[in-house]
Amino acid sequence: MNDLIIGAHVSFNKDTQLLGSVEEALSYGANTFMFYTGAPQNTNRADISLEQTKKAKDLMKEKGIDIQNVIVHAPYIINLANNGSNYDFAISFLKQEVKRVETLGITKLVLHPGSHVGLGSEEGIRNIIFALNQVITKDTKAIICLETMAGKGSECGATFEEIKTILDGVQYKDKVMVCLDTCHIHDAGYSVHDFDATLEQFDHIIGLEKLGCLHINDSKNERGSHKDRHENIGYGKIGFDALLYVLYHEKLKGIPKILETPYVSFDDNSKERMYPPYRFEIDMIRKQEFNPHLIEEIRAFYK
Ligand code: FE
Ligand code: FE
Ligand code: ZN
Repeated sequence: MNDLIIGAHVSFNKDTQLLGSVEEALSYGANTFMFYTGAPQNTNRADISLEQTKKAKDLMKEKGIDIQNVIVHAPYIINLANNGSNYDFAISFLKQEVKRVETLGITKLVLHPGSHVGLGSEEGIRNIIFALNQVITKDTKAIICLETMAGKGSECGATFEEIKTILDGVQYKDKVMVCLDTCHIHDAGYSVHDFDATLEQFDHIIGLEKLGCLHINDSKNERGSHKDRHENIGYGKIGFDALLYVLYHEKLKGIPKILETPYVSFDDNSKERMYPPYRFEIDMIRKQEFNPHLIEEIRAFYK
């Protein structure tokens, strides 16, 4: 056995809460997971149930899931880069989200830096820094992991330099880290095929010790496309070998790796995506061999 820490995006619903998330992760053969505390596209959130959290922690202990490796993803509609009418709400929501994460006993919260929407990246980044300094105080226990972005639209954080500028502006520096998304860096123009060179750049500009987690996704588009369309592992423009190299990289040992690949459709003609691919992708990753029948096997399994 290797010590790969591999998980997937799972659901978190208001009734089963963390226990349901753990069960879903276990059904994929994962040893970690990531979830939104509610729908990613809205900010309605249920109170955290201490009872479900306790049951979830017992189950994690039994199954060998270390809660230190579990990740929460902040809703992507939270935009700290634009200080328009939703700015104050975004800041107060993020403060509450940090509290929820801490109540759950989770340490890492992934956050998209935000989109400046016409303000320009410099001003966008200033807004992000100001907001983070409102949210992160000396008492904050959770670590906010800023995600590297694809550079779609007016997204901030598509270069390591921009991420570094944000990190530098945060007062409590030990409470911010980075989440590196393979699809996003590829779409932003970095090479996942020459991953050592990219990692070297990351280390030089940001520092490897700031890497808190990775999102492992293939990409539907060419490098530098700025599109941000995830693809199943081995089925996109990054490819299986390059992603496997990242997954088993010596320097990334012990860092949680999360799949956010798309659900598989019912059949080739259907646009509806309903079957989670994670059980099969994790199996393929552990076997370290590409499965050319992955999609058919997923459909056959869930039918
Ligand atoms: Fe994300
Ligand atoms: Fe991601
Ligand atoms: Zn993405």
